[in-house]
Amino acid sequence: MSDTAPPPKKKATRAGNYFISNYPPFSFWSEEQGTEVLETFERAPSPETPLGLYHHIPFCRKRCHFCYFRVYTDKNAQEIRDYLEDTMRELERLAAKPLLKGRKPHFVYFGGGTPSYLSARQLTELTDRMKAILPWDEAEEVAFECEPGTLNPGKLAAIKEIGVTRLSLGIENFDDRILEINGRAHRSKEVWRAYERAQAEEFEQINIDLIAGMLEETEENWQKNIEQVLKLSPDSITIYQMEIPYNTTIYKDMKESGALVAPVADWETKRRWVKEAFAELEANGYTISSGYTAVKNPDKTRFIYRDALWGGADLVGLGVASFSHVQGVHYQNLTEIDDYTRAVEAGEMPIKRAFRTSEEERMIREFILQMKLGHVDSAYFRDKFGVNILERFVGQLEELTEEGLLKVADGFIILNRDGLLCVDNLLHDFFLEHHKTDQIV
Ligand code: SF4
Repeated sequence: MSDTAPPPKKKATRAGNYFISNYPPFSFWSEEQGTEVLETFERAPSPETPLGLYHHIPFCRKRCHFCYFRVYTDKNAQEIRDYLEDTMRELERLAAKPLLKGRKPHFVYFGGGTPSYLSARQLTELTDRMKAILPWDEAEEVAFECEPGTLNPGKLAAIKEIGVTRLSLGIENFDDRILEINGRAHRSKEVWRAYERAQAEEFEQINIDLIAGMLEETEENWQKNIEQVLKLSPDSITIYQMEIPYNTTIYKDMKESGALVAPVADWETKRRWVKEAFAELEANGYTISSGYTAVKNPDKTRFIYRDALWGGADLVGLGVASFSHVQGVHYQNLTEIDDYTRAVEAGEMPIKRAFRTSEEERMIREFILQMKLGHVDSAYFRDKFGVNILERFVGQLEELTEEGLLKVADGFIILNRDGLLCVDNLLHDFFLEHHKTDQIV
């Protein structure tokens, strides 16, 4: 192959979703099943189901070119206040339902968008309201996503004061040129400043997000990213491999120019970059705790949100486009802020689409999500679902064993590093036949 030949098709990054965050795929959820959600909220929960609360802040300073979330960059202070007020109306209504009566969140998560886009005062007022409606005093984890350029000392103090335990900094890359080309709002000097200030607040956990394979990423720069992360030495690091979903600016540009392959590194390169980063982090004392995460101290640093959700916890999402899972029913809120506001202000549940899962679908969901941890305990599935997953998935497991991606030993499925780094690619094989689709959004 000459130097100018295109990359092999199966390895190139094409448009579409690669990361699997739920099952069955979103394309099977429907508006008609919205009534399932209403009915579920009217019933008491099955005992012992942990509860989580998610609050979606859909505002950002600037839209990143690779972003596929519902975000708004043009809302003024009053519009933001009105939105927050609507999310509290939504919470008040839900908290009064039998499903949530007497329950307290085990974990709380602020995601977006950019939760740190809110002012210190907005954050304090919002969380005071939330706590008055549904007290968090028993929450073991309160996670909060930040964009480094939005943090100042006053705001960080307020974030600490409201009870945040894990501060997650969306750094993505340390190179200013790459940040700019990818449409990020922050620059590297803001990263260092924000990190120092966050450390001064003594958060229980500081997490750093990186993306392998952003536009114009190079071998040399990726190595520099690893060096910089090691210098910061955070409690945990999350590394995603760049994907180009259809509703991104990068995809729109590809469509206009007729390009089929995205202008980012191929999958093999991205996997290698994450592999190198993981190896370097391990050499510096970190432990790899999932296909995306390295943690410095596994006894102290936990991801309660992730583990509870991947073990079937209830999650109640507030705000536009947020995702929820209650008692086996998935649902997503309306995805346009005006529709969401209209529904909440009319006293309605702002539901866009929903899906009631069967017991088998819940088993598969938990199985594929736990595969992302790199090890799955068959005893958990036997006890919870009465299913022997080693028999149920024997064909797929044998095939992946032959491909050298995992092994089965002592009742555990254990993915090796190569298997873990392409885990999202492997999960489709475990879907029910009628759920195998390219269209997962
Ligand atoms: S900061 Fe995050 S949510 Fe906001 S535009 Fe960028 S990727 Fe999207």
